[in-house]
Amino acid sequence: MIVGVETGGTKVVCAAARPETPDVPVSLHRFPTSNPRDTIEEVHAFIREAEAIAPVRALGLAAFGPVDADPTSPTFGLITDTPKAGWSNVDLLRDLNRTNLPAAFVSDVTAAAIGEFRFGAGQGRSSIGYVTVGTGVGVGLVLNGAALSGRAWPEAGHLLVRRHADDDYPGLCPFHGDCLEGLASGPAIQARWDADLSSLPQEVRPAALEMIGFYLAQLVSSLALTVGVQRVVLGGGVMLAPGVLTATRAALPLLARNYGPTMLAHDDPDDVLLPPTLEGCSGVIGALSLAADLLQEDPQVSGAEAPHRSITSSRRAGRTSTPPASRKA
Ligand code: ZN
Repeated sequence: MIVGVETGGTKVVCAAARPETPDVPVSLHRFPTSNPRDTIEEVHAFIREAEAIAPVRALGLAAFGPVDADPTSPTFGLITDTPKAGWSNVDLLRDLNRTNLPAAFVSDVTAAAIGEFRFGAGQGRSSIGYVTVGTGVGVGLVLNGAALSGRAWPEAGHLLVRRHADDDYPGLCPFHGDCLEGLASGPAIQARWDADLSSLPQEVRPAALEMIGFYLAQLVSSLALTVGVQRVVLGGGVMLAPGVLTATRAALPLLARNYGPTMLAHDDPDDVLLPPTLEGCSGVIGALSLAADLLQEDPQVSGAEAPHRSITSSRRAGRTSTPPASRKA
């Protein structure tokens, strides 16, 4: 058995699966994120339940940021300096992995990018982005088959963007004011219009959607121009409002003007900008697949002696939708 844990800012998703099918959880548990102690204990209760099915051999852990996801860093596995009360400097990797199993640790958006890349809307492409637009704007990247991970990286949600001509809202990022997150996150939308996008009056809504689409398309364009993503999966609460994805698709060619990588210059925006297909499980399935990787890379690994492992090895780069070869838990 393998266990994946996505510790989000508002909820935790735990899943157990067989290593050969990390995209098919055999048990799933969601609960609200509370203080670190209670949250960690509830995860351990889930791991014990998974143990009752079969011995747990590896963990895949994904956490809200900022995290230290650099395996060479002395603070690898920590949630670093977060505004979320009580969570700064929590050593999540070691607190969740008390028995020193083989364990992978990445940010929640990186895990979601991996999940969608291997099993969801990113299948068939070699480089994709996963963007969540909610309380903040988070970005995970899989480039040429390998996740881009490390210390609080990438942070493209704080990209500086060109302002919309009709937007006089100053922005609410505490660091930058009118960066992308400061202009297009859920709290920024709420503060600018005193409503979320689904609740806006009909006379305001089309202009609001066009504005948010203009900002999000700039992120997509920048990801295509800088690192050559071929597809971007857009998730998070803001994207659930009807019309946001359509507005972002409409804005992309207006920004690109037929210049740049094929994805940006020529491809149909309906084919390059997609919603997630793993139904709220993108992150935890990505985490499970990283746990499965650890067993496949070294099937003889001893749980008691295994070191913590980084996310993937280059010899596995390029794998898309094929689950790891069959192997007993
Ligand atoms: Zn910012």
